Amino acid sequence: MPTPTTDFAIIGGGIVGLATALDLQSRHPNAKIILLEKEPQPAQHQTGHNSGVIHAGVYYAPGSLKAKFCALGVTATNAFCAEHAIPTQTCGKLIVATNADELARMATLESRARTNGIPIERLTAEDAQKLEPNISATGALLSPSTGIVDYAVMARKMADILTSRGGEILFNTRVTGGMETPQGITLHTTNGTLSAGKAVFCAGLHADRVARAFGADIQFRIIPFRGDYFAIKNQPDDLVQHLIYPIPDPERPFLGVHLTRKMNGGFTVGPSAVLAGAREGYGKFSLNAADLASALTYPGFWKLLARNAGSAADELASSLSKQRYLKKVQKYCARITLNDLAPYKSGVRAQAVAPDGKIIDDFLFIDTRHSLHVCNAPSPAATSAIPIAAHIADRLLAAQ
Ligand SMILES: Cc1cc2nc3c(=O)[nH]c(=O)nc-3n(C[C@H](O)[C@H](O)[C@H](O)COP(=O)(O)OP(=O)(O)OC[C@H]3O[C@@H](n4cnc5c(N)ncnc54)[C@H](O)[C@@H]3O)c2cc1C
Repeated sequence: MPTPTTDFAIIGGGIVGLATALDLQSRHPNAKIILLEKEPQPAQHQTGHNSGVIHAGVYYAPGSLKAKFCALGVTATNAFCAEHAIPTQTCGKLIVATNADELARMATLESRARTNGIPIERLTAEDAQKLEPNISATGALLSPSTGIVDYAVMARKMADILTSRGGEILFNTRVTGGMETPQGITLHTTNGTLSAGKAVFCAGLHADRVARAFGADIQFRIIPFRGDYFAIKNQPDDLVQHLIYPIPDPERPFLGVHLTRKMNGGFTVGPSAVLAGAREGYGKFSLNAADLASALTYPGFWKLLARNAGSAADELASSLSKQRYLKKVQKYCARITLNDLAPYKSGVRAQAVAPDGKIIDDFLFIDTRHSLHVCNAPSPAATSAIPIAAHIADRLLAAQ
C-alpha cells in the first residue's frame, strides 16, 4: 500500500497544536492537514489541566516572546471566544503584597507591567480592602484585563472548526519517530506511516522525546512539575470578585498559589510545584519509571535542585501537608480554613530545563528543514496559543 501523504502534519491536540492547524488551514484552505493525537480526545493534558486564566502579560521579561504573544493573546483569545460563543469573564486580578518585602517586589512588577504596556493600577491597603473585603493586603496591583476561560472548551471548538473545514484528526495515534527526506518528512505512528510536506510538533510534556526521535539537535530536557489544586467549599459565591495572586517569589519559576474563580462557578486555590513522578501522572504518587529516570539522570535537574533547594523542599512539604498548603492561602485570605479545601484535579507543567540547571523561561521553537518543534510552551502558552500559532506558521512557511 502506498504511504498516505499530507501537506501539513501537526503532532499534538493541545491548544497550541490545534491553533497551529487552524492557522495553517486559514492560510492554505485547500491544503491537506492532518493532526495526530495519541489520546482519544483533544486537550487531555496541559490544556485540560490548568488554572484557566487569560493572563494579561504583567510578569514577562520585556522583549521576550512571552511578553509579546501574551499581550496579543489576550485580545485573540477573547475575540475567538466571542466569535464562537465560548464563555469568558474579564474579572480582573489583584496581585497582593502582604509584607514590606513583597511591597518592594510589587513596585518592580508594576514597572515591568508598564514597560510591557499592560494596563495596571497600584492600590493602597485601603483600596484593596474596599475592593476585596475578604483579602488582607498591605498593597496590591490591579490588572483589570485578566480573565478566565475553559481552555479545553476552546480546544474542542478548534478541533470542530478544523474538521468542519476539511482537516483530519487522527486520535489514538502516537507518533513514535521518523526522519526528514529531501521532499518532506516521514512520520512513523502507532497506526502506520505518514508522509508530510511539513510537520509541526506540539507535543507538550513529550516535546524533548519527540524532537530527539526526529534527530533534532536539542540541549534541554522537559522536567514535569505537578501542580496540585484544591476546590474551595463552604464559602459564599462572592468570597472574592477578582482572581487573587501573591507577589511572585523571584526564587521560584512559577506564579505561586492563587485563588481563582472558575467558569463553572466556585473557586480553586493552587497550583503548587513539585517534581512529578510521571509526565502525565496526575496523582500525588503516580510513577512512571522512564519519566522519573529521565529527570533523575539529567545533570540539569540536579543543578536546578541545588540552586532551588529551599523552595523545592517547601513545595514538597506543602504538597504532603494540607495544613502547610493552607498557610500559603491564609497569608492573603484568612477566612479559608482546612475544612474548606476539597480535592481537585492536578496539572503537570512541561518545563524545559537547560543542562546548566537554568529554567528556560521563554517560549522556545527549533526549526529543521521541513519541520518546527515547539520545545517550551509553559504558561502563558494557553493565553498565547493563537499568536504562537501565527508565529509558527510564519516560520514554517518562510522556510519553503
Ligand atoms: C497547572 C498548570 C496551570 C496553568 N495555568 C495556565 C493559565 O492559567 N493560563 C495559561 O495561559 N496557561 C496556563 N498553563 C499553561 C498551559 O496550560 C500550557 O502552556 C498549554 O496548555 C500548552 O499547550 P500545548 O498544546 O503545548 O500542550 P498540551 O496541552 O500538553 O498538548 C500536547 C499534546 O500532545 C500530545 N502528544 C504528546 N506526544 C505525542 C506523540 N508522540 N504523538 C501524538 N500526540 C502526542 C499529548 O497527548 C497532548 O494532547 C498552565 C499549565 C499547568 C500545567
